[in-house]
Amino acid sequence: MKKPEVIVVSKDREEKGNYVKPILMGLGYTLGNFFRKPVTVQYPDETTERSTRWRGLHRMNVDEAGQLKCVACGLCAAICPSRAISVLPYEEEGKTRYPEEFIVDELRCVFCGFCQEACPVGAISLTGVYDYVDYSRDDFVFDIGKLRDPEQFRFKG
Ligand code: SF4
Ligand code: SF4
Repeated sequence: MKKPEVIVVSKDREEKGNYVKPILMGLGYTLGNFFRKPVTVQYPDETTERSTRWRGLHRMNVDEAGQLKCVACGLCAAICPSRAISVLPYEEEGKTRYPEEFIVDELRCVFCGFCQEACPVGAISLTGVYDYVDYSRDDFVFDIGKLRDPEQFRFKG
């Protein structure tokens, strides 16, 4: 029977007792961090800046006159992969279309940003609001009123 090959690894190890240098290096690292400014944030009293690309709760944008930019074309609802948007259009004779009802179910949403990308008039955008909390699922179904000002729902503790 062939003898199994024995691989000796101990010869590559450092000599016993050579632990002082690694310990000092570790202590030095700890000491360096000890005097560093803490990175912990006392949320919700303090928050950190979010990237401008952050995708949080939706906002329906308005023009200079305060009117909704949305023309109820339905592109956002069509492209939404989670079917979180529903739009009910309304058009007065010879006037601009606008949404009579515009709903975003924030719990269905996966915050992909497709609706924002698809909108031809920049009427919907995703904000930096990520910490909206509530007790009922229905409260996460945003209508036009809520979508006009999602910042009001930012968690304040
Ligand atoms: S962000 Fe994506 S998932 Fe959410 S409503 Fe828009 S398209 Fe739908
Ligand atoms: S938000 Fe934009 S894409 Fe969606 S219905 Fe309104 S205009 Fe069309």
